[in-house]
Amino acid sequence: STWWGHVGPAPKDPILGVTESYLADPSDGKVNVGVGAYRDDNGQPVVLECVRMAEQRIAGIEYMEYLPMAGMKRFNGLAIKLAYGDDSPVIKERRVAAVQALSGTGACRLMADLQHRFRPESQVFFPVPTWSNHLNIWRDANVMVKSFRYYNPKTKGLDFEGMMEDVKNAPNGSFFVLHACAHNPTGVDPSTEEWKEVSSLFKEKNHFVVFDMAYQGFASGDTSKDRQAIRIFLEDGHQVACAQSFAKNMGLYGQRIGCLSIVCHSEMEAANVQSQVQQIARPMYSNPPLHGAHLVATILSDPGLKELWLKEVKMMADRIKLMRSLLREHLEGIGSQINWEHITKQIGMFCFSGLTPAQVDELTKNYHIYMTRNGRISMAGVTTKNVEYLAHAIHTVTK
Ligand code: PLP
Repeated sequence: STWWGHVGPAPKDPILGVTESYLADPSDGKVNVGVGAYRDDNGQPVVLECVRMAEQRIAGIEYMEYLPMAGMKRFNGLAIKLAYGDDSPVIKERRVAAVQALSGTGACRLMADLQHRFRPESQVFFPVPTWSNHLNIWRDANVMVKSFRYYNPKTKGLDFEGMMEDVKNAPNGSFFVLHACAHNPTGVDPSTEEWKEVSSLFKEKNHFVVFDMAYQGFASGDTSKDRQAIRIFLEDGHQVACAQSFAKNMGLYGQRIGCLSIVCHSEMEAANVQSQVQQIARPMYSNPPLHGAHLVATILSDPGLKELWLKEVKMMADRIKLMRSLLREHLEGIGSQINWEHITKQIGMFCFSGLTPAQVDELTKNYHIYMTRNGRISMAGVTTKNVEYLAHAIHTVTK
């Protein structure tokens, strides 16, 4: 007999499962536009130059002691300045609780547990569609998960009216998770004017917003522009939370480095909230890892390294934009009758192509092209070498 005979296989993760299938495919010409990780024009993973330089500075000086439960204080301070702005009043007033987290996922999880523990009656609303792991995270934290309209498949843009209606109809004082910029998987963000209207309606409804900011810098190429939603909400006097990740914008994926911050009413409230969040982390993993915090803190605190980093973020964003234009040009060039305007209109790492699950299956089966079945193309996986092949394949399955 065995202890685990009753355990069946877990369902495949809709995103990470794509990588597994890609790796298992022996074909030479295979293309992975599944997972959201940046690649250079040769399809290779990238270590940023600013990270290499930070590594050299850290080498030999790093102790291996435990960090405190809240992580590295210096890192947290620099991370929130990046999210809220260097001279943000909420930081000056010392009313931001901040805890180093296991990247963006870990920051979301701490937030979901905090919500469950201290606002047990509340629900959380997610855009349709959203990053699939959001739903797992809040579900596992035992929070009731709801949704609001966001994307309009007809226009391949924002369903602003539907969104506002659902925000209005949600019970007052609900939690909403909003993608701060470069919405995953749609690449569709509200405009500045629309953010202002959203913020003002949220105020009326007394909703609480958790900004998930996994792509700061990837939307516009400029990290300050990409925090405009947070700026607008703060100007309206909201208390917000922010789940930050340095996976994409510093290429630190496997280092698991991120930050959860929560804007509070007062310094004392912030201290209380922070003590509770770190208490949530304690029984899960005690304290977060050291190396990524050193890297980020080194880069953000040194003007030269920071400038280099901002340049490199822009370079990544620009390469993706170029791939958007090339993919669209090739599709139009080979005579596709479909309107592909959304490829260049959408922003960030992804293109929500409009391909159906059946068409995606065909791309995989006949062309060894791998993407999630919702038709999301990770533009970071597109290169000058595979873009023509990709366009040809997409054209063939959509004719
Ligand atoms: N949030 C969104 C919207 C994402 O797309 C991702 C990564 O794909 C994350 C959070 C978290 O990523 P990580 O845990 O690697 O920082």
